[in-house]
Amino acid sequence: MKIYIADTGVFINRKGRDRQLVTVPSVIDETKAKYTSMEMLIALETGAKIEQPDPVFREKIVDKAEGTGDIEELSGTDIDVLAKALEYGKNAVLMTDDYAVQNVASMLGIKIEPISQSRIKDKIIWGKKCTGCMKRFDNGEECPICGSPLKKIRKRKI
Ligand SMILES: [Zn+2]
Repeated sequence: MKIYIADTGVFINRKGRDRQLVTVPSVIDETKAKYTSMEMLIALETGAKIEQPDPVFREKIVDKAEGTGDIEELSGTDIDVLAKALEYGKNAVLMTDDYAVQNVASMLGIKIEPISQSRIKDKIIWGKKCTGCMKRFDNGEECPICGSPLKKIRKRKI
């Protein structure tokens, strides 16, 4: 049976009512903070499950996202839903429109279904480039050579 892991956008866009949705507590908090809880209540009444993310899988997501450079773009909620999708493995389809989440998911072989936007076509490795001397680095906030701020760039596509 397919399990659809839902990020906040699923509930906002009223998607997945006919599916077995699983989400994480932080998604519920985000939805409540931004919108009335009415949609959320309806989703729960239709059988969406709320499960805590496993810290072991969370750790794996953080490791992977640090490797791809997506970590700065990921919120705690993003990491939670990715961890939940990884835990369900091949039975999981992660419903999200977030590009950084999609990027990390595709690196880990997690199936993705966009909610409203189209899915990403390429996997992207992010790097950093100095705004002063233009040297490239894997990470960091400040250039170790000239001290200028580094900006995020696409290093390569896979
Ligand atoms: Zn520099």
